[in-house]
Amino acid sequence: MAETVLKVENLKTHFDVTKGLFAKKQIVKAVDDVSFEVNQNETFGLVGESGCGKTTLGRTIVRIYDPVGGHIYYRGQDISSLKGDDLKAYHKKVQMIFQDPYASLNPRMTVGEIVREPMNIHNLHDPKERDDIVADLLKIVGLNPDHIRRYPSEFSGGQRQRIGIARSLSLDPEFIVCDEPISALDVSIQAQVINLLEKIQKERDLSYLFIAHDLSMVKHISQRIGVMYLGHLVEVGDSNEVYHDPLHPYSKALLSSVPIPDPRISRTKQRIVMSGEIPSPINPPPVCPFLSRCPYATARCSEAKPEPVKIGTRQVSCFLYEK
Ligand code: SF4
Repeated sequence: MAETVLKVENLKTHFDVTKGLFAKKQIVKAVDDVSFEVNQNETFGLVGESGCGKTTLGRTIVRIYDPVGGHIYYRGQDISSLKGDDLKAYHKKVQMIFQDPYASLNPRMTVGEIVREPMNIHNLHDPKERDDIVADLLKIVGLNPDHIRRYPSEFSGGQRQRIGIARSLSLDPEFIVCDEPISALDVSIQAQVINLLEKIQKERDLSYLFIAHDLSMVKHISQRIGVMYLGHLVEVGDSNEVYHDPLHPYSKALLSSVPIPDPRISRTKQRIVMSGEIPSPINPPPVCPFLSRCPYATARCSEAKPEPVKIGTRQVSCFLYEK
């Protein structure tokens, strides 16, 4: 059985957005009671609409944000409250690829400086070795090492994302959080970047948390998928099972909106249109988060929040599957 590298247990990341000293406390529950695991060499896909909390979850795992509850175990060690040198050592093993290849690269730094920077911060290798590693990484991600002195503005979006990937590899990590790495790119470039990530994963024995809003892309790259809605993980399972037979009403609706390239199938496909308001993540009531948009809601759904239920190898949080 594959080793579990990352275990997230009842994780909560909340933000206090109270305005004014005497105003009522306003808490955004961006990630609320989320649990899942990622195995060695696995790609775990995290999918959901914009604003569902998936980027916050990724950033909390990398410890850009501090959780307010729950635990994150990396290879058995609880890293939820690491500080100082211990946190720095964790960052050597766990890196992140950011969504926006335009905003995530410092325009005043050359490509060589950007890729070398993590090694400088961690004081790894001598200067000559760092230069060799930078040249190697640029080759690995499909860029010309001769362009080491160029600036990000001289590259296309796809090339910039390759620079971001090279930077994430410079500390030779074991685990990478890929935060929507292709969503800002042209469709023609997206497949190239996905192929590159898959190739690097095989060569370097990496595990990925792959965040995206496109369910078909997540299904392509991931072995297991977690579907996120309003800070909650509503369904977790094998990617083929979730894609071909979603159980949670939100997963069904998300899947029904995926375009099918075959016009014959597309014509007969029934689209589930989600009506109703998306509730505010500020002080949400303790009921099912999907209640206001769910076509299957019953009275029970407005009384309590459904706990995760095991259906085969899958985990679903919905009263329809309560035993
Ligand atoms: Fe819909 Fe109720 Fe299931 Fe929530 S618990 S998804 S409201 S059926």
